[in-house]
Amino acid sequence: MSLLDNLNEQQKQAVTSVDGPILVLAGPGSGKTRVLTYRIAYLVQEMNVYPYHVLAVTFTNKAAGEMKERTEHLLGGTLGGATIGTFHSICARWLRREAEWIGLNPHYHIYDNTDQTSAMRAALKDLNINEKSYTPRSILSTVSRAKNALTLPADLSARNYREEIARRAYERYQQILQENDALDFDDLLLRATLMFHDYPEILQRYRERYQYIMVDEFQDTNSVQYQLVRQLAGNDGNIFVVGDEDQSIYRFRGADFRNVLRFRQDYPDVRVILLEENYRSTGTILQVANAIISHNKQRVGKILHTAREKGPLIAVHNAYNETEEADYVCSEIQRLQREDQYAPGDFAIMYRTNAQSRALEEAFVTRGMPYRLVGATRFYARKEIKDALAYLRIVHHPADEISLLRVINMPPRGLGEKTIAALLTWSRQVNTSIYEALQTWRTAPEQLPVQPNFSSRAKRLLRDFAAMWATWISVSQQVSVPLLLDRIMSDIGLHEYLLRKDGDESRWENVQELRSVAADTSPLDPEEALTFFLEEVTLVSEVDNLPEGTNVPTLLTLHMAKGLEFPVVFITGVEDGILPHTRSFDSPDDMEEERRLFYVGVTRAKNRLYLVHTFRRTLWGQEQLATPSRFLRDIPKTFIETGKQRSQRRRMARLTPVDDSAPRRRTAPAAKPGSQQFAPGQKVRHAIFGDGVVVHTALSAGDEEVTVVFQDAGIKKLLASFAKLEKVI
Ligand code: ATP
Ligand code: MG
Repeated sequence: MSLLDNLNEQQKQAVTSVDGPILVLAGPGSGKTRVLTYRIAYLVQEMNVYPYHVLAVTFTNKAAGEMKERTEHLLGGTLGGATIGTFHSICARWLRREAEWIGLNPHYHIYDNTDQTSAMRAALKDLNINEKSYTPRSILSTVSRAKNALTLPADLSARNYREEIARRAYERYQQILQENDALDFDDLLLRATLMFHDYPEILQRYRERYQYIMVDEFQDTNSVQYQLVRQLAGNDGNIFVVGDEDQSIYRFRGADFRNVLRFRQDYPDVRVILLEENYRSTGTILQVANAIISHNKQRVGKILHTAREKGPLIAVHNAYNETEEADYVCSEIQRLQREDQYAPGDFAIMYRTNAQSRALEEAFVTRGMPYRLVGATRFYARKEIKDALAYLRIVHHPADEISLLRVINMPPRGLGEKTIAALLTWSRQVNTSIYEALQTWRTAPEQLPVQPNFSSRAKRLLRDFAAMWATWISVSQQVSVPLLLDRIMSDIGLHEYLLRKDGDESRWENVQELRSVAADTSPLDPEEALTFFLEEVTLVSEVDNLPEGTNVPTLLTLHMAKGLEFPVVFITGVEDGILPHTRSFDSPDDMEEERRLFYVGVTRAKNRLYLVHTFRRTLWGQEQLATPSRFLRDIPKTFIETGKQRSQRRRMARLTPVDDSAPRRRTAPAAKPGSQQFAPGQKVRHAIFGDGVVVHTALSAGDEEVTVVFQDAGIKKLLASFAKLEKVI
């Protein structure tokens, strides 16, 4: 069987057009990513292109891994030499390789958000700028925007005082990064672009190497990324990009879907290929998606049809509050597993903001249902993990002051702020890194131009620390990363410290988890393995923290869901103010982006789609009445299951008993009317509305008015004497 047999005509065309610039524009689920993968296999297998000449850029490390795997599978072998990765990871590798040519320490390390904030905080302090008036976060976002637009500090506009502050902070921040041999995420792209700009001979080498360039999710590239692609492809390279303007959702990070237009202008002889068949979703889901996106004005309409069946109607559910919302999601997941043989891993629950995950997580935990969470409490953002990594960093790169300051007194070893300040001042006076200064002081103090001014206790503590530090560095050249980590952790007594502080093992277990990640890195020579490990760890994007192969539901933000697909998708919090987010209310452009985000979520679903909103929601500590999202109004009613259809379906399902082991609820007749019989939290059953929970009761005109949230029928206010509610125990 040929490689091309698994593709439709348009897809075949895209795969076999190998020369010149090609742009594939197509809607979700039309096989863009599939085409890109097949194209790599085709080039290697049919066109005898050496994998070494292939460069494929994807959006997440996970996608890159999948692409490698799929291509290798298609080829029935390994794909040695091809470069497949995210823009960031690929640039990191190039910069490391060319470091010496461009005046960069080859052992540079990569700062993540928290490191960046510390560095910016330090910059503001150095400039005597009040952190309260100019928060590190706001200045960092200006810096990020500047970098993504290829603007250096000297070129940043400073038309007013605020901008001047930002410019100076940017400048100082860069100096701090440089002093620490560090680059932030944006620098990776910026420095690579500058490298190609400033060193034509390097660019020439890369152009000769990368004769076939492919970019997935092209609509979400920003200016620097576009520039990189442009530089490498030149005017006559074989450049193949795929994307969907309707799925551009990273504007806030500088993504600009007008890059598609730029591409067309820069390559006037581009071949545009459209894919029109969706292989992912049912007819109903696709029509719902089309109805939503067609309300955006800034778009070129596309044709997208599916050969799949119509499938079930979508569910729009109104829950009382976020707790009931989460309960509803969990019980639907359990029901679908029971009735329709879905596996736990078939479900995804998506939300607009990270804060929404808490209520969902609680519901999963309460029911003892395992899940994986992408986002907020990311593994690598945990304090103990960052501490452990900081230790590895100072071993890998002793000049890394930010990491050192993070751990010099962690676990607390009596090195107070005063001592640390004295240490910093003294290292500046002797004009070397803290590491060098400490080691000279420890071994040959007479060689120092200035002696430090420490208390005798601090002297002892610092000598001990410096000695351990030197030992770790020599150990690191001899043993694997896990063993090095063991050695450091035992020297600093982290396990005992965490146990003492928390009274349990959970944080230490996280550190052990990190150890097992380290054990998975390729067995290169110890030094290289450490470099490799730290690089990988820093680059893992949030979505990549999913433990692979675990068969459990996934909780993730809509932004993280890009490019993925799931048999059943729940989108929660489909409310005005959340989706669309309040921030977008005053800006038509932002509103269109919110709509695209909703569209991305909807189009992740293969078979079933649930849109859930609440009546009241507590979010960010505030309880408010919620309004259903305006986007819901764009969905024709014919695609939404009505309460009646739902009950009917339920009744049918109940006729076919599947799980006899499930505990049955007992019902009891309610007591006499007239007195207060119900209390919030009471589970009840109604002849028409089905099962529900009482959320509020009040005596009114001698009768009891009960507010009930029904699983299917939503919220109802009922009079107890008429409603004949049964209490469910
Ligand atoms: P998105 O815009 O969401 O990233 P996409 O255009 O990249 O979507 P893919 O993820 O490549 O779409 O494909 C969607 C699904 O359809 C995948 O499961 C893929 O394997 C399947 N698919 C694509 N083309 C075909 C085909 N010709 N035959 C069978 N299945 C296909
Ligand atoms: Mg894709």
